[in-house]
Amino acid sequence: MAQYYSRRNLNFLLYEVFNATELTHYPYYSAHDRETFDMTIDAVTQIGDTIMFPHFRDLDRNQPELKNGKVTVHPKVGEYLKAMGDGFSFEDGGQQLPEIVNSILGFILMAANNGMMYTGLTSGAARLIASFASEELKQTYVEKMLGGKWQGTMALTEPQAGSSLSDITTSATPQADGSYRIKGQKVFISAGDHDQCENIIHLMLARIDGAPKGTKGISLLLVPKYRLDGTENDVTSTGIYHKLGQRGVPAMHLTMGDRDDCHGWLVGEPHRGLNYMFQMMNEARIGVGMTGVAIASAAYGASLQYAKERPQSRRLNEKSALDSPQIPIIQHPDVKRMLLLQKAIVEGSLSLLMETARCADIAHASEDPEEKEKYHLMLELLTPVAKTYPTEMGMVAVSNGLQVLGGYGFTEDFPLEQLYRDIRITPIYEGTTGIQSQDLLGRKMTMKGGKPAQYLFGEVAKTIAEAENHETLKPCAQKLKTELARLQEVTMALMPFAMQGDIERFLMDATLYMEMFGISTVAWQWLKQAVVAQRTIVTQNPDGEELAFYEGKIHTMKFFFHYEVPKTLGLAVRLKDNEVLTIATEKEVIL
Ligand SMILES: Cc1cc2nc3c(=O)[nH]c(=O)nc-3n(C[C@H](O)[C@H](O)[C@H](O)COP(=O)(O)OP(=O)(O)OC[C@H]3O[C@@H](n4cnc5c(N)ncnc54)[C@H](O)[C@@H]3O)c2cc1C
Repeated sequence: MAQYYSRRNLNFLLYEVFNATELTHYPYYSAHDRETFDMTIDAVTQIGDTIMFPHFRDLDRNQPELKNGKVTVHPKVGEYLKAMGDGFSFEDGGQQLPEIVNSILGFILMAANNGMMYTGLTSGAARLIASFASEELKQTYVEKMLGGKWQGTMALTEPQAGSSLSDITTSATPQADGSYRIKGQKVFISAGDHDQCENIIHLMLARIDGAPKGTKGISLLLVPKYRLDGTENDVTSTGIYHKLGQRGVPAMHLTMGDRDDCHGWLVGEPHRGLNYMFQMMNEARIGVGMTGVAIASAAYGASLQYAKERPQSRRLNEKSALDSPQIPIIQHPDVKRMLLLQKAIVEGSLSLLMETARCADIAHASEDPEEKEKYHLMLELLTPVAKTYPTEMGMVAVSNGLQVLGGYGFTEDFPLEQLYRDIRITPIYEGTTGIQSQDLLGRKMTMKGGKPAQYLFGEVAKTIAEAENHETLKPCAQKLKTELARLQEVTMALMPFAMQGDIERFLMDATLYMEMFGISTVAWQWLKQAVVAQRTIVTQNPDGEELAFYEGKIHTMKFFFHYEVPKTLGLAVRLKDNEVLTIATEKEVIL
């Protein structure tokens, strides 16, 4: 089955472009080989095919409910959690699968049914405990969570503290026995309560009494729904949000400490909570990027199939030949453009995410300090881009997929309307696009004197040099060189504002900078894929479907360079424009 993603494309990226098996040369990943990677991907696809994909609509139509303080979700969620727990339970430290493989498992699951967004939260929370908590907390919680019996959450957001986590007020009061009493409210907590698991373990940000203001006074606490002796822990589900999409997973409003009896346990050291949480947030950002591309992949699969089957109109040159049969809409240039745009976004974004995950793997496993630093810094730089491009452009891709279906795309007879609603959250949670963009320009581009960007641009230059060896790729290699220079020019034009301390001016259009950066980065990924495709055509002489696959890669790369890359011209003009129109002034513009 698996029409929601292309296994051929996945294998191409994993083994031909990123040579994932090379990672097994690092001792940390040495237990693995291609066979273990493939087995895991097969097993997850099986879960996707049998438990998830068939219930994609059903989960949307039967939303979670909060009644008398209890939250019920679709019973298939329980079956899914059990299947994942049975198949993938592992010791502390996990199966030690490289992130490049692990993250595509998430991609497959989310493409099959993004409404079952439960296990990523649990494994992220469990890894936080495994990395930073006391031995006692690790022994008590990690195994049950990874086994699928206990749900994990990340509980950060409060009514007054969304993008601005420094304003968190949930309090933690120290007790004589070493535990804390928690009081406060959290909103939008995904999987924050449900009936298909035995306990919910919140990894919660709170402020220990007397802690300094701002982010330096935030601690990480483990707060279960039920304590180990089975008593309720005074975490009340006070509300459930009714959402546009991703309706299979409840987003909860939680109140802690109504009866002054909510117990929490400190994870790691006091006041270091946000640092710890960043581990989970960085993983989660790659995860959300993957969700964006997964939803876009499912939409692309559905619209491609429809475009091949739907007859409508005749070719523009034969419009008056009414006796001739109607043609499948895939033959109309405008429909072909929409399909190519989707393919370019989906396969380009997936490649970018896998590149980012590979950086995480090398940064983690390498024993060479220089290599470790290089990949760590590239990971830092690429993470906000890998969260943003696949989600923002994933929305564009899904919208184009819906458009391919015409009026039918707007109906409940096809999955596009649901995918269109589902993907809308992805540029919002895990840090909005605005916040990711400020992170990219304001923090990552200025980090360590610009070292992360130097490493990244060095890698892009390597791909350009490889592409220049192939006559057919030379024009696009040249274009990417120009893009790189343009991006550097824009960056240099903005940096003086940072140096003058005018941060508002510096970051005013950070989101447009992100857009430009994203296009250039994905152009690099497309050129990288095209180099591999061209080399394979020359050296291995494939034929039939295989040749068509590689030629399709080169064609889509050209599409990206000729349809998407030129957009950076307009962005660069704006980014260097000194007309300031959006900064708040005393005399406000009437909007
Ligand atoms: C379905 C769903 C699931 C969620 N799951 C979780 C979860 O599991 N755990 C959790 O802790 N949270 C969760 N969230 C919360 C989510 O992370 C927040 O909604 C998000 O961080 C934005 O916060 P906010 O909604 O308060 O928006 P605000 O922070 O009020 O932002 C509103 C707008 O203002 C912009 N803005 C805000 N500050 C700035 C600034 N300084 N500069 C420029 N622009 C700015 C934003 O970019 C945005 O466009 C979830 C939310 C939803 C909707």
